[in-house]
Amino acid sequence: MEEKLALYGGNPIRSERIFYGKHAVTQEDIEAVCNVLKGNYLTQGPAIAEFEKEFAIFTNANYAVAVANGTAALHIACIAAGIGPGDEVITSPLTFAASANCVLYCGGTVVFADVKEDTYEIDPASVEQLITENTKAVIAVDYAGNTADLFEIKQICVKHHITLIEDAAHSLGSVLENQNVGSIADITTFSFHAVKTITGGEGGAITTNSFEFAQKARLAACHGITKKPEDFIQPNVDRWYQEQQLLGYNYRITDFQAALITSQLHRISSLKDRRNAIAAMYRSAFKDLPGIKLQGQTQECDPCWHLFMLRIDKAVVGCDRSLFFAALAAENIQPQVHYIPVYHHPYYRAMGYHEGLCPVAEKIYESILTIPLYPAMSDQDVDDVIRAIKKVYYYFRK
Ligand SMILES: *Cc1c(COP(=O)(O)O)cnc(C)c1O
Repeated sequence: MEEKLALYGGNPIRSERIFYGKHAVTQEDIEAVCNVLKGNYLTQGPAIAEFEKEFAIFTNANYAVAVANGTAALHIACIAAGIGPGDEVITSPLTFAASANCVLYCGGTVVFADVKEDTYEIDPASVEQLITENTKAVIAVDYAGNTADLFEIKQICVKHHITLIEDAAHSLGSVLENQNVGSIADITTFSFHAVKTITGGEGGAITTNSFEFAQKARLAACHGITKKPEDFIQPNVDRWYQEQQLLGYNYRITDFQAALITSQLHRISSLKDRRNAIAAMYRSAFKDLPGIKLQGQTQECDPCWHLFMLRIDKAVVGCDRSLFFAALAAENIQPQVHYIPVYHHPYYRAMGYHEGLCPVAEKIYESILTIPLYPAMSDQDVDDVIRAIKKVYYYFRK
């Protein structure tokens, strides 16, 4: 006999609410931040340089540039790639709005490619179909920690002489065909927002193997102003001289945030192990539930799982995603939905993007919900989530 759902007046699975993501800060992290606060630099000091050095080594990229957040990273990536009015950039609609907004910041046009039914990743076939003579770049988004089909998309980009930007906000620590995320695309962008794999509260970075991209991105993140004599356009020997060469922004990160992120980077392999262990527990718990589908993995991908999603087939389960969401929340397991397709937002609709543009992405969106996954979850927490999902599932499935 099924238990009465908390949604209908029964007892919830647990009394303390658990959320889909949460940061983990250790004593070591706190000390790293405090050391910066006691020192001489709060911004543009040695902690940022140290972070960039270590981050480039970790991702196996030639250059890393740290910035204020992941959205700034996407913006400077687009500036480095030379996106401007008249240029089209192809991306996935199944992402956070920032992956598309960065194109609009540069005056470019966003073109949405559909995603693959099994992995929810941007579909290389759809990307190729949408390429025109105005296409300047592709922004591939790694969804939930699994990577997009980056090598296939890269081939398409090489063939058409366009830049591949990878939004790796979800996939720090993931590896594809033995190559680290951060060294695969022309430019890779990262976020260190509080729910991401490692965090500075806020923070972001780009990595690239191209000196030109790195230099332009760095310039764009700091007002477009350089102080390096060897880079001056107007040669000048005045000791105070500095030069603005493009319209840049203040996208700098602080030294204490950089110290926090570096400290977290030092334990990324244990964070990855824990994330993947929880994902494996979920997979084995849900694999035999008819009507519940789990995200597939890209071939040769060794993901660091960032999010875990269930797809609810309402015809089989007997309830739709909305009701499943409400029932889980009532059990004090707070789900989330990643993502509302970008072009469903009124801002995009007003530009003329319409329903039905990417049918697979829309279908996936209608049926997914994200359940809690973060390294600080105890085995008991994981068990509560599994029990709550089974409770809701068997209540409706009967
Ligand atoms: C978090 C996120 C961003 C934006 O990062 P911020 O640091 O919050 O600006 C961009 N793209 C995706 C896919 C994200 O998940």
